[in-house]
Amino acid sequence: MYFYSTRDNEKRKFSASEALLKGLADDGGLFVPSSYPKLNADINLSYPAFAYECLKPFFEGDELLSDLKGICEKAFNFPIILNRIERQEVLELFHGPTSAFKDFGARFLASSMETLLKSKGNELCILVATSGDTGGAVASAFHGKAQLSVKVLFPKGRVAERQKRQLTCWDGNVSSYEVDGAFDDCQRMVKEAFMDKSLKGLSSANSINLGRLLPQMVYYVWASNKYLEKYGKKPTVIVPSGNVGNCTGAYWAKLCSAPISQIVLAVNANTTIPDYLKDGVYKPRPSVKTLANAMDVGAPSNMERLFNIFPTYEEMKENVSAFSVSDDLIREEIKNTYKEEGYIICPHTACGKYVADTYFKDECPIIVSTAHPAKFESVVEPLIGERVPLPPSLNALVTAKSNYKSIAADYKLLF
Ligand SMILES: *Cc1c(COP(=O)(O)O)cnc(C)c1O
Repeated sequence: MYFYSTRDNEKRKFSASEALLKGLADDGGLFVPSSYPKLNADINLSYPAFAYECLKPFFEGDELLSDLKGICEKAFNFPIILNRIERQEVLELFHGPTSAFKDFGARFLASSMETLLKSKGNELCILVATSGDTGGAVASAFHGKAQLSVKVLFPKGRVAERQKRQLTCWDGNVSSYEVDGAFDDCQRMVKEAFMDKSLKGLSSANSINLGRLLPQMVYYVWASNKYLEKYGKKPTVIVPSGNVGNCTGAYWAKLCSAPISQIVLAVNANTTIPDYLKDGVYKPRPSVKTLANAMDVGAPSNMERLFNIFPTYEEMKENVSAFSVSDDLIREEIKNTYKEEGYIICPHTACGKYVADTYFKDECPIIVSTAHPAKFESVVEPLIGERVPLPPSLNALVTAKSNYKSIAADYKLLF
């Protein structure tokens, strides 16, 4: 097994470890697998053991292979639940330490990097610009990891209070910076730091890293097989999407023979993908602000991986469908789901639930739930008229002492 860059016609080969340490390929492309092996692990295994069986073929011949089992045990040490509610199955991916699905990818990447560095002896500094969930998941995953440090950059006044607390509750190898600027300034600072040749040992952990993508494939293999066992048929899977990294995991799972009948993207008012599917013209654009803010993406970075799987418009149209959900419909869906089904959902999950209730009424699809509703209490609580209790792990984070530096939007101030 090897990986190659989406922009390399010659398909030069990289091992999983190389791809994972590089993040982005040198030509600016994204790493994708050279083949999609048939995955048929036993769903009665524990989740970490199941994940190990699924990931093993992708690490065949890689230096991480002998440690892969331990990495899975360390990374996936929290529950994953397929929860039947009234009319659908909900794949709850929010039971990790920062209560969002990003814990799966960030924790796997952190454990993998720590293992790789141990044998190499050098140190890496991870730079992460964040406007929401990513920074918290990465900080939590890398906190306390040997030979690794993290610098989290977030825009002043643009993150919610609870989000800010999750970004700033760290010490030791994680430092947080409140940047006097917008999210774009944070991203620019990270890019400038990477281009500064005098700075050595920098890396990234953003959602295009292969080490975050591969574990996002595993839970689709797991959930679709559980579903098949229970219902005797293949599910439709509905994925709330922004940068389309999560749903790329679903497509990779399907290519690896996971029993999935179709994959459907639920997006918010950022309609780049539904518009493309309508007329075949792909037009990335600036994002618009919505209630499902972790999906506020107008130029989805993982689209390049979907184009790699489905190179023509015809293929894309045949395999990808996407529906947009407005803020008004998100509010209504959160309210109705609580009133009628007694189930509380976050604004992102609400997009998926709305798509299920509206377009897939006659079947029981799997809705992917990407975050715990307590993370978005300022949206959810007024709609349902009740407090949403924080899960204990998240409560510990948001009540810990805040610790960060306020800086101007100049990357040199980070070092
Ligand atoms: C990151 C995120 C998403 C979007 O996932 P992509 O992989 O970017 O499509 C959806 N919901 C939540 C809660 C997120 O944190």
